[in-house]
Amino acid sequence: KLGNETAKAELGRATWKYFHTVMARFPETPTEDQKEALRSYIYLFARLYPCGECAEHFMQHLSKYPPQVSSRNAASGWACFIHNEVNAMLDKPEFDCANLGDFYDCGCGEDEKGPAA
Ligand code: FAD
Repeated sequence: KLGNETAKAELGRATWKYFHTVMARFPETPTEDQKEALRSYIYLFARLYPCGECAEHFMQHLSKYPPQVSSRNAASGWACFIHNEVNAMLDKPEFDCANLGDFYDCGCGEDEKGPAA
């Protein structure tokens, strides 16, 4: 059966938006427990990604470039890098990770606490 490229791309856009927003809200100085939570999340995210072919590719990227979870900056920079690996594989332009800044805004406000993690 033929895949549906439009649905696959939509799922991808929604997922990347969420994925990068998670990184943007990860603590600047995480505890060991928070680091471990992010690392397991990323591996389970890859394993359970609904497009099987995408999941397979992404797990290969992960084994080459393991998640960086030491800080918010490390995690966001790593996520940007790995998305660029997927962009390259799909012949899409590279995103300049210096422009990450406030690009991924959760809409939850400055003084609100971060995730419960
Ligand atoms: P997307 O790549 O979806 O990006 C959305 C927006 O994010 C861009 O418009 C830009 O504003 C921003 N952005 C772009 N690059 C970065 C970056 N490096 N860092 C931060 N922000 C950025 N599709 C396949 O056909 N085959 C696959 O194997 C495949 N694997 C995937 C694996 C995963 C884990 C995910 C989440 C998606 C995968 N996709 C795959 C979907 C694919 O990556 C795109 O989401 C889809 O093709 C739509 O692309 P797009 O050009 O709209 O931009």
